Amino acid sequence: MSSEKQILSTCIYCGCGCGFYFKVKDGRINGVVPSKNHPINKGSLCIKGWNASEFVHHPDRLTEPLIKENGKFRKASWKEALSLTVKKLKEHKEKSGPDSLAFFASAKCSNEENYLFMKLARAVFKTNNVDHCARL
Ligand code: SF4
Repeated sequence: MSSEKQILSTCIYCGCGCGFYFKVKDGRINGVVPSKNHPINKGSLCIKGWNASEFVHHPDRLTEPLIKENGKFRKASWKEALSLTVKKLKEHKEKSGPDSLAFFASAKCSNEENYLFMKLARAVFKTNNVDHCARL
C-alpha cells in the first residue's frame, strides 16, 4: 500500500526562504507544492523553487565519499573520508593559519546543515572565510 504525504520545508536556493511542501510518496520526494500561507511567497515559487527536489534522487548524485589518489577517485567510507578531511584541515591551519582555510557550503544541504557548517568554520576553525553558492 503506497502512502502520500506533504512535508513543509524551506527552499534552499536563495535567501528569500520561500516555503513549500515536499510531495513524498513511498519514501521518495517527487515534487514540491508552494505554501499558500507562507508570508514570503504566498503560494508562488520561482523556477528554481519549483525544481528544488530534482537533485534529491538524481542518479548522478554522489551518495558516498570519494578520495582522490594519484589523480583518480576511489570510494571511501565516511569514517575514512572525514578523518582525512579533519587531518588536512588541521595541518593547513597549523601551517598557514586559520585564514588559509575557506569553507564553501552548498544549496543542496538544508538550512540547518549550512548553519552548522558556518559554525564549524567560525567557531572550530576560527575563520570567517565561509560562503554559500546561493549567494553568488
Ligand atoms: S523559490 Fe526562488 S525566490 Fe523562493 S527561495 Fe527558492 S530560489 Fe529563492
